[in-house]
Amino acid sequence: MEFDLSWIVLGLPIAFGLGWLASRLDMRQLREDSRRAPKAYFKGLNYLLNEQQDQAIDAFIEAVQNDPDTTELHFALGNLFRRRGEYNRAVRVHEHLLSRGDLSRTDRERAQHALALDFLKAGLLDRAEDALRRLEGTAFEAQARMALLAIYERSRDWPQASDIAQRMQAAHQGDFSTRQAHYLCEQALTHASHGELDAARTLLERAVDTAPQAARARIELARLHQRMGNADAALQALNSLADATPAALPLAASLLVEVAGQAGKAPQAHALLVHHYEQMPALDLLEAIVALETAGAQGSAVARGWYVRHLEHEPSLVAATRWLAGEQLAQPEVQPQVQRALEHASKPLTRYRCAACGFEARQHFWQCPGCQTWDSYPARRVEEL
Ligand SMILES: [Zn+2]
Repeated sequence: MEFDLSWIVLGLPIAFGLGWLASRLDMRQLREDSRRAPKAYFKGLNYLLNEQQDQAIDAFIEAVQNDPDTTELHFALGNLFRRRGEYNRAVRVHEHLLSRGDLSRTDRERAQHALALDFLKAGLLDRAEDALRRLEGTAFEAQARMALLAIYERSRDWPQASDIAQRMQAAHQGDFSTRQAHYLCEQALTHASHGELDAARTLLERAVDTAPQAARARIELARLHQRMGNADAALQALNSLADATPAALPLAASLLVEVAGQAGKAPQAHALLVHHYEQMPALDLLEAIVALETAGAQGSAVARGWYVRHLEHEPSLVAATRWLAGEQLAQPEVQPQVQRALEHASKPLTRYRCAACGFEARQHFWQCPGCQTWDSYPARRVEEL
């Protein structure tokens, strides 16, 4: 096919000319818009840039009064009110926007989202929940679900949290299987606290199936079996924990010592602990080995040799304090004071610390009470981090 070059020669300047014309029209439109924009708007903007929020708000209110149709100004004003903690006024601005019939769909969704944020910040969780639910199917859906999940977790409404997490997982918003297992564990603990042990066990078994790699359900299951008088099943749950999530074994080491004693299987537990201690010399594993040997035929003097072995590899004040507690000093009269000083110094080292926010606690938490992050506490003590 023959290609006619004359079209290009003729077409290019025409296209160029049309483009230039369009850009001129755009520029003119922009200039007219900015001329039309009220002075107060620029005044407000100026204040905002100088971080004078009070004056900015006054100027924006004036601008909105002069020109009630300006959507962007409403958004700016609403966000300013929220940032200043004036939630009632922020809500009023966003509700006013939503009540307008001429609002585009995008702006309506934006206003709905802003309103949800107002309620969230104000701590009005039931109204926030309602506003967030209205964002289902909009561009803000993912954010809204995340906020809803936080609300349900905070109010410990585990079935609702589970429902949202399921939807988020289906929408490929992440892997929520570990969280789902936590929700099941939380519900199981509530049943267990009411004495409904079978219901609790069913939920914990479901939690293990939901997230086989998660440690909590196996540990809670072992505790429940122990409570139900089934030490063998408890031991089995902890053995499976050691296989599936060995890093979490220090959290269950003292429980393992207890149930192994009850099941008459201390030697098996000892072998398991020593095997894992060799891979990962954790303080809790060390303590569990010492506890098992002290209770056994070997006695405490031999058992405490483990502290010395530990100190050869780890400069641990905690291990040194524990070892010294069983030793006889050359000046026995000062031993209580020395021991007290060492224990005082080593106590903060035996805490657990949230990897997300640094919050420290004497007990291990599955969800940080400081920052609400799940599984942010390592299974090791502060001294070992
Ligand atoms: Zn935290």
